[in-house]
Amino acid sequence: MNAIRPIRTPGELVETCLVAPEDAPAIQAVAERYAIAISPAMAALIDRNDPNDPIARQFVPDPSELTVMPEERADPIGDLAHSPVEGIVHRYPDRVLLKAVHVCPVYCRFCFRREMVGPQGLGTLSPEAMDQAFAYIAGHPEIWEVILTGGDPLVLSPRRLAEIMERLSTIDHVKIVRFHTRVPVVEPERVNDALIAALKASGKTAYVALHANHPRELTPEARAACARLVDAGIVMISQSVLLKGINDDPDTLAALMRAFVETRVKPYYLHHPDLAPGTSHFRLSIEEGQALVAGLRGRISGLCQPTYILDIPGGYGKAVIGPNAIRESDGCTTVSDFKGGEHVYPPSE
Ligand SMILES: *Cc1c(COP(=O)(O)O)cnc(C)c1O
Ligand code: SF4
Repeated sequence: MNAIRPIRTPGELVETCLVAPEDAPAIQAVAERYAIAISPAMAALIDRNDPNDPIARQFVPDPSELTVMPEERADPIGDLAHSPVEGIVHRYPDRVLLKAVHVCPVYCRFCFRREMVGPQGLGTLSPEAMDQAFAYIAGHPEIWEVILTGGDPLVLSPRRLAEIMERLSTIDHVKIVRFHTRVPVVEPERVNDALIAALKASGKTAYVALHANHPRELTPEARAACARLVDAGIVMISQSVLLKGINDDPDTLAALMRAFVETRVKPYYLHHPDLAPGTSHFRLSIEEGQALVAGLRGRISGLCQPTYILDIPGGYGKAVIGPNAIRESDGCTTVSDFKGGEHVYPPSE
């Protein structure tokens, strides 16, 4: 039952017992709209006896994806509004996204770029577009950091990645290169010496932001892949999406953040789910999210605390939306402690 190649079609989902034969036509309709891929490591992790398995929910297509809500949009975080040249998104002054590739080793059913990624998506940047993207970075000395995202940049061959890194090495004002990826979790065997050498080939400080949403994703193989990266001098941070039915309970979130810290991955962002088309079954309210995040504060180490983030629809960037400990009323400031107790600040005596 354990695949050695990614599962990509409704037929393969049925053959591997991830979709019941009678559901195949509905899944076919989803497949015509959005890309499907489940890597062997993730397929092996799915508990086929659990109808609500949190790994399956992230990767196995669901007919609910065909229900599009009025507030959902094809470009939920407004990438296109801030794209000066193909493949570059420049929203904040000191950093740009470089989207060299639009394919991923898995396709997350809640993906915020689901209209752009996949075999039918925006593809890989042409050599000419790549030249223009590098010319843009070189021509903007305020760019201190280049963030490779996509798609998943670590699906590129070490040779292609090293080429990109060697080009970045020639741009003096770029000091940091960050890679946003799911590869260490979903294809840990890919993190080998050649890949690590490629990530370091720019000579710049390298950060890897690992995307994972459930503690079970941090398998021994995934932890070993992260250890190879960290031992090589790459700093790792996490990013997760808060998802209904996957990680929206205090135990799961706490276990996920602890698993990151144990793996030397510093929790960075917990994203409120974006308004991507056909993803309403994954969304919870901001109030529910704030209550969950508030619950982490007293429960687990400060090392394990992520920042709760909303990417404002329309391209306005990220906002920190964590629970507010401070309340003002009638000129009086009250601060709440981790048990919910309220205290006037400054204290009256
Ligand atoms: C999310 C994002 C970044 C990175 O933001 P950080 O807060 O530095 O992690 C940069 N550029 C764009 C366009 C983004 O959407
Ligand atoms: S890995 Fe990232 S870009 Fe790729 S499908 Fe998942 S969320 Fe989307």
